[in-house]
Amino acid sequence: MEYKLDKIMISREKIASRVREIAAEIVKDNGMNDELVIVGILTGAAVFLTDLVRELPEDMNVKIDFMSVASYGNDTKSSGVVRIYHDLKNSIEGKNVIVVEDIVDSGLTLSHLLKLLEGRHPSSLKVCVLLDKYSRRETEVKLDYCGFQVPDEFVVGYGLDYAGRWRHLKDIKTVVPVEAK
Ligand code: 5GP
Repeated sequence: MEYKLDKIMISREKIASRVREIAAEIVKDNGMNDELVIVGILTGAAVFLTDLVRELPEDMNVKIDFMSVASYGNDTKSSGVVRIYHDLKNSIEGKNVIVVEDIVDSGLTLSHLLKLLEGRHPSSLKVCVLLDKYSRRETEVKLDYCGFQVPDEFVVGYGLDYAGRWRHLKDIKTVVPVEAK
C-alpha cells in the first residue's frame, strides 16, 4: 500500500525540549566522571542520538558506538529473535552503557537485544527510547529514559521510516494511505 504524510504528532520544538530534559536526567544519574557508552541502534535512533549527545556537557566522558540489528519475523510482527548486522566496535565489559532506540512497540526486539548485551557484562545497562507505544507491549522492558508515550499509530520522521523513507523529517508525523484512483 502507498502512504503519504499526514499530521504532525510531535513537533520539532517539543522534541528539542524533551531531548534537553533527557540529557539533563542522564547527567544527573551518571555524573561527569564515569565513562558513559551511548549505544545507538541503527538506523532509526541515529537522529535522536546525535541531538541527544550534543546536549551533554563538553567535559562529560562520553563515547558513542552503534549497532544494527533486525528481529526475525514478517513485516508487521517481530519475533524477538535478534540478528546482528553490524556489531559494536568496542567491548562494553565493565562500562556504563545506555542503549538508545527510536521506538519500542512489542518490546521483543529490545528485550532480546538487552539480554545479548547483558551477556557482555557491562557495569550498568540502561535504556533510552524516544517513543513508547505502550499499548502494544508484549513483553515488559524497563525504560530508564523515555521521550514520549505515543498512541498506536504508525509514525515517521526524526529517524523513523516507512520503507526507508522520511527519516529526515524534523517533526514526527503520522501517515495515511493514498486513496486508490
Ligand atoms: P518491537 O520489537 O518493539 O515490536 O519493534 C520495534 C521496532 O518496530 C522499532 O525499532 C521500529 O523499527 C518498528 N516500529 C514500531 N512502531 C513503529 C512506528 O510507528 N513507526 C516506525 N517507523 N517504526 C516502528
